Amino acid sequence: MRDKINDILNNTIRELNLNDKKADIKIKIKPFKRKIASISLTNKTIYINKNVLPYLTDEEIKFIFAHELLHLKYGKYHINEFENELLFLFPNKEEILINIIKKLLKYNNLNNNAREGI
Ligand SMILES: [Zn+2]
Repeated sequence: MRDKINDILNNTIRELNLNDKKADIKIKIKPFKRKIASISLTNKTIYINKNVLPYLTDEEIKFIFAHELLHLKYGKYHINEFENELLFLFPNKEEILINIIKKLLKYNNLNNNAREGI
């Protein structure tokens, strides 16, 4: 699992053309109450939801990493450049996101007061 995740992260970093400094990213797997993932821009660490990770496809993991890495590139807000680059990599991004949220709801024992998303 670890190796697979690191491969997906490295491929995503390459596809986003992040420079070496920005590409020095760590991954931590931890439980979340409501989120699928988050990134700490100061620690350069992506946190991914331990409860849901085993059920995600490679494409979904890649989508999550791409989303978090774009925060590293563009800052904390989902500005137009952020959304456009994500759409370029994932023309079906809405569908992927819906499937991720379904898994989050299913495997993370949520109440119906729901989600922070990613
Ligand atoms: Zn985001």
